[in-house]
Amino acid sequence: MGIKVAKFGGSSVADAIQIGKTKKIIEADPDRKYIVVSAPGKRFDGDTKITDLLYLCKTHREHNLPYEQLFQVVCDRYKVTEVNLEVEVNIRKYLDEIRENLEKGTTADYVASRGEYLNAILIAAYLGYDFVDAAGLIQFDAKGRLLPEETDRALKEELKKHERAVIPGFYGSSPDGSVKTFSRGGSDITGALVARAAEADVYENWTDVSGVLVADPRIVEGAKPISTISYKELRELSYMGASVLHEDAIYPARAADIPVNIRNTNRPQDEGTLITAEAGPLEDGQIITGIAGRKNFTVIALYKNMLSDERGFVRRIAGILEDFDISLEHLPTGIDTVSVVISEDSIDGRLDEIVEEFRQQLKPDTIDVIEHMALIATVGYGMSSRPGVSAALFSALAEEGVNIRMIDQGSSEMNIIVGVENDDLERSIKAIYRAFIK
Ligand code: ASP
Repeated sequence: MGIKVAKFGGSSVADAIQIGKTKKIIEADPDRKYIVVSAPGKRFDGDTKITDLLYLCKTHREHNLPYEQLFQVVCDRYKVTEVNLEVEVNIRKYLDEIRENLEKGTTADYVASRGEYLNAILIAAYLGYDFVDAAGLIQFDAKGRLLPEETDRALKEELKKHERAVIPGFYGSSPDGSVKTFSRGGSDITGALVARAAEADVYENWTDVSGVLVADPRIVEGAKPISTISYKELRELSYMGASVLHEDAIYPARAADIPVNIRNTNRPQDEGTLITAEAGPLEDGQIITGIAGRKNFTVIALYKNMLSDERGFVRRIAGILEDFDISLEHLPTGIDTVSVVISEDSIDGRLDEIVEEFRQQLKPDTIDVIEHMALIATVGYGMSSRPGVSAALFSALAEEGVNIRMIDQGSSEMNIIVGVENDDLERSIKAIYRAFIK
């Protein structure tokens, strides 16, 4: 028998109906031994997350504003869930204790963490699993940084004592024993830490989408889910704007070489997306894994005769950008040309100064500035050593009448980046999707 760690996000544990679905999922596979839960999330559009309500209670208390009604909404949600799940954990007692601490001026981290704490107590009782508190196990230093090795040791030690357990996500404790939370969405990190400590075969991250999609569904309607993706490909896509699990959130699983499977609680029959260290086998006819794009880049194109013979040119470019505290996004080069691609955000109104600095320090023959560019990354190991992929990509864009302003392909051949006008981003992504996804 193996071990699976399953983390359920806020919408998967938002109320008794959703928790009922998670129970079915958990019971369908005896390997799902350690369960990490978020606080109850939104039940419908316009609903409020428990974590948000708890933060609000704390801010109201801090400013001496009445928070009773807000806290009552929190209490009601847990009490109704307790009744509907038909468990008796005396949730009221816990709620009273939280109210007392709130009154005494306890920390925002403590108050916010109670969302997952109470949910884990309820869900553990409902599943018949042990409740294992994350405080004391997930450890932070005095500056609030996670102590991964200490955490791993403490978790390993504790998990040995429990064959099956539910652990609240999102928080742990500081050296002084007080509760410390991760940043928002941090239950994903707890899940990855538990997966590492349990030496799990897989870290399942259950949410409300059937995995990472090949392209943004707001651009490509009905975009397909990606079945397998490597961490590197995922990183390329998320950097270019695809909204997927944050890399930091799964890092402990990645470091321990544990695959992450993103699954949909509302459609457990879907296999979701499997994120692995190495690229998985390609599906029939699969060439690319995903497409993502971001708007608002500026290209500073430098031309200098005999540039190819000059030494230190790129180092000086890097130095200028460093002085302006700007990170270099891409640097496509030709024989006598270098294009410096940076984000508009980082320029922060200093374009003229930057161009002047380039002019003085690099003495190029010409400098062209192209603003309002979008970058599109087409990512996938399936492209490497396969001739004709870029040709197919460029002709798809040409047929769509899109003017390509820049091309960059790393020698790993894992991605092709093209620069187009901001306004062409959406139709370019659609065209690339049509060309490669059958
Ligand atoms: N409940 C926390 C939040 O809303 C943490 C999490 O759900 O991951 O940010």
